[in-house]
Amino acid sequence: MRTTIRVGDVEITAIADKAHDFNPGFHFPSVDPEAWKPYSDLIEGPDGYVLVNFHCFLIRNGSQTVLIDTGWGPELGPPGAPKERGALMGDLEGLGVEPGDIDIVAFTHLHADHVGWNLVYEDEKILPRFTSARYLVSEPDWAFFSARDENHPNIAQQAIPLDDIGVLDTFNDGHPLTPFLTAEATPGHTPGHMSFVVQSSGERLYILGDLIHHPVIAHETDWVHKFDADPEMAVATRKKVLDRLEREETTVAAGHLQHPSFGRFARVDGRRVWKPIDVGPSLG
Ligand SMILES: [Zn+2]
Repeated sequence: MRTTIRVGDVEITAIADKAHDFNPGFHFPSVDPEAWKPYSDLIEGPDGYVLVNFHCFLIRNGSQTVLIDTGWGPELGPPGAPKERGALMGDLEGLGVEPGDIDIVAFTHLHADHVGWNLVYEDEKILPRFTSARYLVSEPDWAFFSARDENHPNIAQQAIPLDDIGVLDTFNDGHPLTPFLTAEATPGHTPGHMSFVVQSSGERLYILGDLIHHPVIAHETDWVHKFDADPEMAVATRKKVLDRLEREETTVAAGHLQHPSFGRFARVDGRRVWKPIDVGPSLG
């Protein structure tokens, strides 16, 4: 499923590679189920389950094409989900975007649900799926994941070979990927977690990455996610960034929220909430 929003002269398309219902305890194991009680209106799935999407973002201005994150990919998926092919490549095709059209593939971080469509295994060879692209990984995430003895199979097969096949570039806080796209370090979920600022003709949009996995976190910024590598830093980063995005009324793309995951943080009755933006019809 795909939906497009415009920011100045730039088009951003949210593409849901997959979606899955989870027991809230999977994502937030340290949170007492009782603490969810005030948020019954935010439980989207059946049987008290919460819906988590896995979005990638295609960003285009007519001369440069960037893909942020590549989803779960052709084979793997979240625990407990049926084994089915992710939708990214089909949706790109539907948009008229060939794999060779992508100039840059950049990652918010190197977790398994963000790297799945990176590479193609052909005979004995490993090839970049996006044949003309440079693949941009934050330097701290590359240092962390490439030094680990054991990684999730998607990270091991789809991310770690990027260096060996010569398509990897690393970047740091403040790096301008293009004139309309800048990286901002938001560490904690992983050591080198990055968000991205899209800016064009006086408009802006913030690609949040994994600072939140569910709308409940708009208010409950202290709730630690199962995969927050450094919980204290993740909470501090989340508070700082969400406070700023609320104060500045910034348009946000929050990839794990419901499709298309475009919205804003706003204060309602003393509680910070996630307000989705209606940007028109979704395709696919
Ligand atoms: Zn994720």
